[in-house]
Amino acid sequence: MDTPKGFMNHQKLISILRRILSSPTAPFHEYHVRRSIRDLLAGLPHVTTRSDSFGNLIATYQFGDKPARFCFGAHMDHPGFVLSPRNGTWDFLGGMPPGYLNLGAPLEEFGEFAMWRLPAFALEGNRVIGRACDDLVGCASMVCLFHELERLEAVTTCHAVFTRAEEVGFIGAIRLAQSWPFDPTVRFVSLETSLPMPGAKLGDGPVIRVGDGQSVFDHVVTGDLSLVARECGINHQRALLDRGSCEATATQFYGIPSAGISVLMGNYHNCGPDGGIEPEFVDLVDVKGMINLITQLVIRSGSESISQAALALRFEERIKNHAIYDRATAAHFR
Ligand SMILES: [Zn+2]
Repeated sequence: MDTPKGFMNHQKLISILRRILSSPTAPFHEYHVRRSIRDLLAGLPHVTTRSDSFGNLIATYQFGDKPARFCFGAHMDHPGFVLSPRNGTWDFLGGMPPGYLNLGAPLEEFGEFAMWRLPAFALEGNRVIGRACDDLVGCASMVCLFHELERLEAVTTCHAVFTRAEEVGFIGAIRLAQSWPFDPTVRFVSLETSLPMPGAKLGDGPVIRVGDGQSVFDHVVTGDLSLVARECGINHQRALLDRGSCEATATQFYGIPSAGISVLMGNYHNCGPDGGIEPEFVDLVDVKGMINLITQLVIRSGSESISQAALALRFEERIKNHAIYDRATAAHFR
C-alpha cells in the first residue's frame, strides 16, 4: 500500500488537544469529554462509536476485513470534587496528598462537579499545559490515531475505549475487562500520563512501559511496541514506571494480554513542586511520538506478533550461521 508520508497536520493536532483538554471532567462525570470525543470522531467515514453498559465509549476504525489486533485505552476522568450523592457536600475523588487538599485553592464548578480553577489549555513552545493532562492527553492521542488512520487510508481495524472512573481505581477498565466486547485475541494497550522516574525523562519520547506498580506487562505486545518504535525511528524510552498503576493492570488481571505507553508529565495530579496547586504539563514531542507509535503499530501488525516472528528468524539464522563451528567441535561433546 502506498501511504502518504509525514505526520498529522500541526494545527489539527493542536485543535484536537485544545478541544479535549478544555472539556471539564471528574470521576463519574465524564460526559463533557465524551461529547467532545464523539464530535471529533463524527465526520470520520471508517469510525463508529458505541457505549458499553457502564458508559465507557468504544470507538472502532474499520476499513477492509482485516481483524483487529489491538484495543487502546485512555481514561476520561481526572481527580476532582463531585457532589456527594449522600449529603450534597463536595467529595474529592482521586489520589492526592492530603497537604495539597487542605490548601483551600480556588475551585471552578461545573454543575455537579468542580475542578481546581486553572487554565484548561495552553501551548508554550513544545509544552502542553493543562488543568487535566491526565488522561485527556491519552484520550486526544486516540482521537488523533483515528484521524491519522483516515488520512493514511489504512486498510485495517482497531478499537479504542475511552473509559470512566479510572482515578478511583480504574473501575471503567474493570467493567470493560469483565465483559470484554472484542475477540479474545485482541490485545489491550493503555495510554497514560505518568510521573518521570530515574531513567525516564520528559521530552525524550513516549515510554514503553514494561510494567506499573502492580503488574509486569505482556512481553509480546511490549516487544511489538519496541520493534515498531525502532523500525520507524520513533524516539522512545523503555522503563518500569512503578509509582502508579494503570488500566493495563486491570485488563491483564482478567486475562487480556496488555501493555502500556506513557507520556511523562510534570505537576502530576496538579501538585506543584512548591506545595501549590498547578496545571499539569507534558511535552508535545512525546505526545506526537505516542500518536505515531500507536498508528504505526496498527498499520504494521498482522494476525501474528511481528516481534516474535522477527526473533524466531534471528534465532534460526544464528544457529545456521554458526553450524560449521558446531560441527567442527561436536566430537568433543559426544
Ligand atoms: Zn491520574
